[in-house]
Amino acid sequence: MVDSYKHKGQRLALVEKIKEKGITDEKVLEAIGKIPRHFFMDSAFEAHAYQDKPFSIGEGQTISQPYTVALQTELLEVNEGDKVLEVGTGSGYQAAVLMEVGAEVYTIEYNRILHNRSRHLLQSMAYQGRFFFGDGSKGLPSFAPYDKIIVTAGAPSLPKELIKQLKVGGILVIPVGDDRVQHMTRITKIDEKTIQKEDFGMCSFVKLRGEYGWKG
Ligand code: SAH
Repeated sequence: MVDSYKHKGQRLALVEKIKEKGITDEKVLEAIGKIPRHFFMDSAFEAHAYQDKPFSIGEGQTISQPYTVALQTELLEVNEGDKVLEVGTGSGYQAAVLMEVGAEVYTIEYNRILHNRSRHLLQSMAYQGRFFFGDGSKGLPSFAPYDKIIVTAGAPSLPKELIKQLKVGGILVIPVGDDRVQHMTRITKIDEKTIQKEDFGMCSFVKLRGEYGWKG
């Protein structure tokens, strides 16, 4: 795989577009400017890799739109060394962005083919994350608690297990809604019994499956 000057130029234009849409976090913009998104997509889509659009990654799943990746990462307010759980590894692109902004990433994927593919790709790019295969709607209790949790598939409701696995003061960013449209929701765990909920507008993700996701 080659990362050419043309790709780099296209990436900088993408960063400008995302800035215009309202992303201000410099670390996030730098990560989008650095990571070769075309490595995470089928070569048939390479020419489109730096458009601000989601694309198919096979298995009925998509790589999220760069703006959405940037927004979720910004909302997560990652500090250097934060332990972050990602639910829905997919292509691995969001995981790479999280590592670039300083997170220690645990990422879990429900589809074995995507899990294997993204794990190999990220390892070949020398990213140091931990990759798990399984139902992330239940979180990843064996490594809890986390500073931050990000869900990159649309959930029918707030999975209680995820809030349980968050540290006090921790943040969960998750799209919640029906099977077509969701609200980008940020949960801050104030104390063991109290959460603060914020809404960052509409979005559209593939379905979160598993025990606390969509059935069927
Ligand atoms: N973060 C990804 C986006 C992938 S799309 C990226 O940057 O490319 C959402 C992913 O969530 C899909 O790969 C889907 O298989 C996965 N998924 C759906 N339900 C899941 C669950 N319960 N646990 C873990 N992964 C899940």
